[in-house]
Amino acid sequence: MNAPIISEETRERDKIARLSRSLYERGLTAGSSGNISARLADGWLLTPTNSCLGELDPARISKLDWQGNLLAGDPPSKEAFLHRSLYEARPRAGAVVHLHSTHAAAVSCLAGLDPANCIPPLTPYFVMKIGRLPLVPYHRPGDKALGDVIRNLAGKHAAALLANHGPVVSGPDLEGAIYAAEELEETAKIFLMLRGAPVNCLTAEQIGELKAVFKLDI
Ligand code: ZN
Repeated sequence: MNAPIISEETRERDKIARLSRSLYERGLTAGSSGNISARLADGWLLTPTNSCLGELDPARISKLDWQGNLLAGDPPSKEAFLHRSLYEARPRAGAVVHLHSTHAAAVSCLAGLDPANCIPPLTPYFVMKIGRLPLVPYHRPGDKALGDVIRNLAGKHAAALLANHGPVVSGPDLEGAIYAAEELEETAKIFLMLRGAPVNCLTAEQIGELKAVFKLDI
């Protein structure tokens, strides 16, 4: 007997629910915060508004078109415009993850960060998965002006840190975006642990070597 054919959309719905639950269970998101999206051939999927990432029903994940119209599922996250701005600026992005993960959110509240690169190149993994991380000035929740800021940055950056809020990270697919968001969170934790200590960051030469060997577009 042939195995049943599972559509791309069903597969992506299941994957969003499975990976979201994993993030929730490991404390990377709490309550109803955080939202995850994935590009489809005929639109995109986004976690619904007021949903807990630990308990998503794959069939109720929102499906939207590129004008923002709801095609299926529950009403989408109110932060849908953040995701859409990233997809518009990065045609090859297949997924976007936005979290209020504790350590990255803590860094986003610090005074005196470099707005062009708010977490220094502490490890090669951070450089490879995130690259330079711009800090986006504070916007109140739902302020659509944030979408324009993200659209302007996202041509050059796969990820950004929203001030007093949290990270938004794109990737080629769901695993890629989530692994990058996790690397960002771990590096934010290291950055906070090292505050006040003398630190050796990667040098420009070491970063250049990573770019050349791993063909990084950062
Ligand atoms: Zn948020």
